[in-house]
Amino acid sequence: MIAIGVPAEGKDEPRIGLTPETVKKLVKAGAKVTVRSGAGLRSHFSDQDYKDAGAEVAKSDADAVAHADVVFTVRRPELSLAKSMKKGAALIGMLDPFSDAEGLDALAKTGVSLFSMELMPRITRAQSMDVLSSQSNLAGYKAVVDAAAAFERALPMMMTAAGTVPAAKVFVMGVGVAGLQAIATARRLGAIVTATDVRPAVKEQVASLGAKFIAVEDEEFKQAETAGGYAKEMSDEYKKKQAALVADHVKNQDIVITTALIPGRPAPKLISKAMIESMKPGSIIVDLAAERGGNTELTKPGEIAEHKSVRIFGLLNLPGQVPVNASSLYAKNLLAFLEPFIDKENKTLAIDWDDELAKGTGIARDGAIVNEMIAERLGGKGAAKADPKPARAPAKTGTAKQAGNGRKAPAKKSSAKRQPKGDTTP
Ligand code: NAD
Repeated sequence: MIAIGVPAEGKDEPRIGLTPETVKKLVKAGAKVTVRSGAGLRSHFSDQDYKDAGAEVAKSDADAVAHADVVFTVRRPELSLAKSMKKGAALIGMLDPFSDAEGLDALAKTGVSLFSMELMPRITRAQSMDVLSSQSNLAGYKAVVDAAAAFERALPMMMTAAGTVPAAKVFVMGVGVAGLQAIATARRLGAIVTATDVRPAVKEQVASLGAKFIAVEDEEFKQAETAGGYAKEMSDEYKKKQAALVADHVKNQDIVITTALIPGRPAPKLISKAMIESMKPGSIIVDLAAERGGNTELTKPGEIAEHKSVRIFGLLNLPGQVPVNASSLYAKNLLAFLEPFIDKENKTLAIDWDDELAKGTGIARDGAIVNEMIAERLGGKGAAKADPKPARAPAKTGTAKQAGNGRKAPAKKSSAKRQPKGDTTP
């Protein structure tokens, strides 16, 4: 029988990788599930909820994982947790694969197999496992809700006997999964929405959500999307033209939501200090790219910066502020990933390391790092086998996705395989 263990997350992480709903499905599939007491509380799942679903509740993290074949986490855990696990057991979570390679190597050396969900290949089969999609979608929503709450005016137009309240103007920069949800949410709140991106494919998607697309649509723009559907780094000439367009537009906006990312690169700087100074007092910027350096010159990751009465939200882990939904979707992502690796007859863990999902996400096996990019970062210090191909660099917490607007995310219409996002070294 396959045993699943779930420890508590650290104090900054309200999400959890297991919900009573996924416990029921795992138990039905023949698994024994153990969860650390209190681990789900910040997502409002009580110990009793887990027990009712068929899980056991353990008093400590070590007890929750000691006999597990698979351990689910949200974030990369402390080394002590991996040391409490059985050798050869699988640790599956958002392990932040491109930071602190030494820390990952130490985890690998415990003999635990490591799988990093941010590296999930963006192929049709893996859509239900795409944690960047599930979490970025919520981040896009929360960014707009936070901006609306902080904005000292109303978003929808209101015609009253005492006069008309004008609709707020919202500008979304970067129309990936988070951006699409930000547009949809701002439209629902009644704002006038414009959006920009360097990928021509999004033009139609923006229009379909009732927003106006603005961009420098030159020859370079027509080529700006990689075969995998991601943005390329633009030329200096394009950046200049884009900056002029943005400068002209931003000064008339009330709320700007920035989500622009380029795989494997720092976030592009799209909003300068001068542009912020051109905005009206009371305007709000929410920078979802804060974890990768931010899309504005004044973003302070983890803080709300204020410059000349314009506030710039660089808050991190927005999906963690909607933990009930974020945990629920994340737990389903984990379940979908694990299911193909449960032997249906013996009910045991049977990871097929040749499968592209295991290859893409697997970063350590039998005490060694097996991801080329991480091995390179270790400079040969880790005993890398460098077998599985690296998939893509991580984007944002949870960085990063599905429109949630009653329509499917555009990429999901296609059955074509997507190229790995991390095709460049970060
Ligand atoms: P992302 O988080 O990497 O980037 C966010 C957006 O920023 C992108 O739309 C990008 O084009 C844009 N951007 C980059 N540089 C910019 C600049 N200088 N100016 C303006 N915008 C800029 O993107 P994402 O959310 O991961 O989505 C990327 C693509 O992947 C989308 O087409 C999405 O629909 C697709 N996708 C596919 C799958 C799947 O097939 N499983 C899952 C999710 C998303």
